[in-house]
Amino acid sequence: MKKSPSSRRGRASREADALIEYAEGLAQSGSRAEDHFWESRLEREIESLLKDGDEGSLNAALDRLADRESRAYEELADAIEGRVEHMIAAASDGERDVLLFAAPVLAWSRMPLPTRPIPPAVLKSARQALLETVFTPKADLCLANYLFSPDQLPETFCDTADLRQALTQGLTDGTFKVDPASLKETAQFLADQRYIIGVVSAPRGEAIFRWQSGDANREQVTQRWMETSQNALAPLLPACAFESMLPRAYYVACRDADRSARPFSIRASVAFLATTLGISQNHLVATIGGCYHRQLEEYRIGFTVGEEEETIHGVVWPLLGAEDEMSDVAEEIETTLRESGIQRVVMLRQRLPMEYCDDCGAPLYPNEDGEMVHAELPDVAEQPSQHLH
Ligand SMILES: [Zn+2]
Repeated sequence: MKKSPSSRRGRASREADALIEYAEGLAQSGSRAEDHFWESRLEREIESLLKDGDEGSLNAALDRLADRESRAYEELADAIEGRVEHMIAAASDGERDVLLFAAPVLAWSRMPLPTRPIPPAVLKSARQALLETVFTPKADLCLANYLFSPDQLPETFCDTADLRQALTQGLTDGTFKVDPASLKETAQFLADQRYIIGVVSAPRGEAIFRWQSGDANREQVTQRWMETSQNALAPLLPACAFESMLPRAYYVACRDADRSARPFSIRASVAFLATTLGISQNHLVATIGGCYHRQLEEYRIGFTVGEEEETIHGVVWPLLGAEDEMSDVAEEIETTLRESGIQRVVMLRQRLPMEYCDDCGAPLYPNEDGEMVHAELPDVAEQPSQHLH
């Protein structure tokens, strides 16, 4: 029977009410015993909503708690993400923890950054590198055979849980084949994130990552993975400079990558401009401006050369998590620019609009007069014809 929109809304609201009640109970709980009570109710409810593909109720509950500025919002968001990325699976040798994880890569190139199926030989060396450096010897992996761009990651909780489920079913042969036709197109940037996605399974309650088992600490694991993955992943990223980041549980790895991509984009842009124009970094001038929609949404940084007026390149620095105009974000951007070798940094104080080019959709960047302009590289030999945003 076809449901009317109003009955659907009513149902969503009852389920959202339950999520809110449990999350608020958890936020106000005064003991581990009570925490456990609310957590298990919350988990059961989330599990059943994910199974039904009921994204609406999950988001309705999050939206209502966000409006109340309650700590219950964090509790609910944690519980949903935790449930989406983790499950306990029965195996012939007992129960196993199965965790969705991401191995982010920050890359930049003058050419379009690739997003593509991973050939079997590369997938094999990536798998071996992960098992040797990141996960404990008892771990088992299934990797998706695709190098994802941020636009191609699942957009909803239910889609992410479905990906975790599909990867879990692939644990027997270690690979999950992604249909490239099912993925979105990728916006091209000079510097961007790419992701290897998989699930790791380990005996329930035992260590999953090497730093849990005392074999190595996180810094050592990061160092070894960065070194090993340079060779393992190089065939996927020809003509690119790239840095691997520590593989972690899916949501935290994606957040790490979003955060690190911001200074990485600035360093990449400065290196790119200096090489392409054949100038020293200290000839570049950077103008930082805060762009507002209803509130401060992001900073945009426009680059010019010496006394010339034309803005030749730009970088977007989005605000993340709880950052707002009271945060020290602008100072962090200025520090990153100076560390990249830029001496002249202009900080605009006015509120700028979030404007885009009507023709190509590229963000506009501030010049020193506070005007939002289109960044255009001067004609230099061997320039790729694409816009470098
Ligand atoms: Zn344009």
